[in-house]
Amino acid sequence: MITFQSLGLTQPVLEALLAEGYTEPTPIQAKAVPHVLAGRDLFGCAQTGTGKTAAFALPLIERMLAKPKPRTARHCRVLVLAPTRELAGQIYASFCAYGKNANLKSTVIYGGVNQRPQAAAMMRGVDVLVATPGRLLDLINQRLVDIRSVEFLVLDEADRMLDMGFIHDVRRIVAMLPTERQTLFFSATLPSEVRQLANSMLRNPLEVKTTPQATSAETVSQSVFLLPQKQKRHLLVHLLKNAAMSRVIVFTRTKRGADKLQRELDSAGIHSAAIHGNKSQNHRERTLAAFKSPRPPVLIATDIAARGIDVDQVSHVVNFELPHEPETYVHRIGRTGRAGLSGEAVTFCDHEERPRLDAIEKLLRRTIAKRNDLPDLPKVEGGSAAHADRGPRERDSRSGGPRRSGPRSGSGGRRGPGGPQQAKRSSRRPSAASSTGAKPERAVTAAAPAAHDKKKHRRAL
Ligand code: AMP
Repeated sequence: MITFQSLGLTQPVLEALLAEGYTEPTPIQAKAVPHVLAGRDLFGCAQTGTGKTAAFALPLIERMLAKPKPRTARHCRVLVLAPTRELAGQIYASFCAYGKNANLKSTVIYGGVNQRPQAAAMMRGVDVLVATPGRLLDLINQRLVDIRSVEFLVLDEADRMLDMGFIHDVRRIVAMLPTERQTLFFSATLPSEVRQLANSMLRNPLEVKTTPQATSAETVSQSVFLLPQKQKRHLLVHLLKNAAMSRVIVFTRTKRGADKLQRELDSAGIHSAAIHGNKSQNHRERTLAAFKSPRPPVLIATDIAARGIDVDQVSHVVNFELPHEPETYVHRIGRTGRAGLSGEAVTFCDHEERPRLDAIEKLLRRTIAKRNDLPDLPKVEGGSAAHADRGPRERDSRSGGPRRSGPRSGSGGRRGPGGPQQAKRSSRRPSAASSTGAKPERAVTAAAPAAHDKKKHRRAL
């Protein structure tokens, strides 16, 4: 059996892992750690949930311990670039946890908050700097951060970096780094731009591919209500008031839609909170803390904002609107059914969204159960539930075209033994759909998350 010890990790790190409750390495950790320890570049195709953060953090901590160096003001030894503040915060927390016996100093910098504490932390020098590209460049330009002595670079979620338009910032940052360095590159999907970027940054890398987090989709019951757009909020209120939904994320496509829905839920007496790119960092942190609490508000989120939500016990995901990209659906429903728990995904689909639903079913290679238990909802102009199903089935050029005809490579496998959070498995089974009499289906496959949201779509998120 592969153990953390057999991977070459030393006592301070082993003890920290014990404290975290990790008993054995995940597949990506088992594959990557020995090579990163040996100094090799890495090209990892892996999603959140596979244990990839520890796969790069553990060996880098060891590399620094093996060759200690004094800290220098404004400098760092490890630079981790992440696309979102939430992900950057999680990576920073992981370095702190895994390196707590290693006497290393880490810090995190991202936009949307006052830069002064970040600059102050850098003035003292750090071992590990986790950063989003925009704020990092700001601080470099102000000469508050100097990355010219970086020894180890990690680029995480490279595909998201591209999606979010950070690619030029990333290239500018990489151009400032020493060419003599070790680079670890991670992406959940591999569009050609990501490959090109990787080729330009890596030297003879070890390629590690892990199966995406299929367990989520396997433990998620899925169903669809077909109904007009205008009735969706009534149905949502009905479900939230009547079904056993303990921790719920509702996905909308736009920031404006999220805010509007929050107002509507509030006026229906349902405690909710919206999280999206226009909210301040403080607001996001408060909202996420409330969502993790025992009595969480209903969280209304756009896709990009939801990317960094790492909460295990989400009982329900509601797709208030369908995403343009079918892979995003898989990513959304992966917010529930985590850590071996079961969960439920309920989707609201109006007739204009039918092509998107078709594309999702094509990707999953199965149909999703249509609910026939639509409650009596207030009548709205523009039709009935039946109307929702009767609408034109014209192809939506973004989502229904032939290019998304099957699961992506690497999709569909179950996470093997040693996958993260196995110890937390439980038989808990929330039951909103069952409580309303429907028989939802199980998905058997999951695919990698959306590779390409187009820019104009992204601005709305
Ligand atoms: P990541 O893919 O890095 O976002 O990790 C997903 C989750 O798995 C995090 O909550 C980690 O704390 C957890 N995790 C990572 N490695 C292990 C492991 N070897 N055993 C148990 N849990 C782990």
